[in-house]
Amino acid sequence: MIVLVLNCGSSSLKYQVLDMRSNTDYTLLAKGLVERIGEKVGDLTHKVPGRDNYHIEKPIADHTVGIKSVLDILTDKEHGVLSALSDINAVGHRVAHGGEFFFDSVVIDKGVIEKIEKCCELAPLHNPANLLGIKAVETLMPGTPQVAVFDTSFHQTMPKYAYMYAIPYQYYEKYKIRRYGFHGTSHKYVSRKACELFGTDFNNSKIITCHLGNGSSITAIKDGKSVDTSMGFTPVEGLPMGTRSGNVDAGIIMYLMEKEGLSMNEINKILNKKSGLIGISELSSDNRDLDAGRESGNEKAALAQKMLWYTIKKYIGGYIAALNGVDMIVFTGGIGENSNTTRENVLSDMEALGIVLDKDLNNQARGKDMLISKPESKVKVAVVTTDEELVIARDTMNLTTKK
Ligand code: ADP
Repeated sequence: MIVLVLNCGSSSLKYQVLDMRSNTDYTLLAKGLVERIGEKVGDLTHKVPGRDNYHIEKPIADHTVGIKSVLDILTDKEHGVLSALSDINAVGHRVAHGGEFFFDSVVIDKGVIEKIEKCCELAPLHNPANLLGIKAVETLMPGTPQVAVFDTSFHQTMPKYAYMYAIPYQYYEKYKIRRYGFHGTSHKYVSRKACELFGTDFNNSKIITCHLGNGSSITAIKDGKSVDTSMGFTPVEGLPMGTRSGNVDAGIIMYLMEKEGLSMNEINKILNKKSGLIGISELSSDNRDLDAGRESGNEKAALAQKMLWYTIKKYIGGYIAALNGVDMIVFTGGIGENSNTTRENVLSDMEALGIVLDKDLNNQARGKDMLISKPESKVKVAVVTTDEELVIARDTMNLTTKK
């Protein structure tokens, strides 16, 4: 079956079209990106494997127009990959926040839309955009089944003592303030795939997954279920990221607001856009630039990376304690899949915890699935490439073809 996967942001949308024959047998037909929705001139980049990229610039007033442009290009005689819109059997949406409503992906109906609407307060930048995408598909392709795949749902299995914050209980009751966690699709996919590839029983295992990209999070998974994760009520908690601070003493926020006379918007921008790797290095949010900086003697670039490595190490140690051991540690995301330096520095001097990295294998692992621990290592360490769109396409296929 043909599945259209949509990931709608506030002013952009990403798409993929996959021909799904089974969970493991599929072909990517096309993918692309619509940007600058709502601006004077928007653009669409359409990529078909084996062909030159196709790029158009034109005004794209809203998400409905953006999705219409995608559907037009997919069925275009010259650049398209489908003969008609009716070739698309189902649409899968990445949805940022499912709150406490969704433990798994679901077929979208009126009730589901209402619940996604209720979660807009929890993800004010993302959920409204996701809803615009869902409604645009309803208008343009009426009757086509749609599925929502949530960033948060994998983490709904966390125990209450792990997801609560120690602030007055009434704020959980009033505003649902608690840890939700994000990147769930990726943590679930790479942990399961690592088990399949490297001979571990997913339903009877202790796994720590490190999704390290521009946004980063770490998850502790016991017997196939997320039991703790580093992102929290929002994606700003946990590790230092490209531009997000990760954990800070909450007292700093009040102190800074007072000292600098900052508004809520300003402090929000500082913590989400000006902190993390870019904040410390004053150079870049991109890990590759920091590699280059550190190698040429830039001390702040080196410091930013060391802070990241050290924080990852502390989370791994904490989650080993929480899980009472670990069978496998999995690295994924742009940094996790590609940066041997990050993996080596995180995992060095952890022999006491049964982790022995094979440095040669680690140096070979770049964007491919492989084990990078030594045979004598009690804990397996793996690099596994993530593919969130594939998970969305699979869930969409499985939920819409279920009898
Ligand atoms: P996003 O969270 O936006 O999806 P990615 O998962 O693509 O981001 O990760 C982007 C990060 O991965 C950047 O910091 C980038 O520098 C880093 N990265 C990508 N390739 C490499 C590499 N070869 N070596 C080190 N870091 C890399």
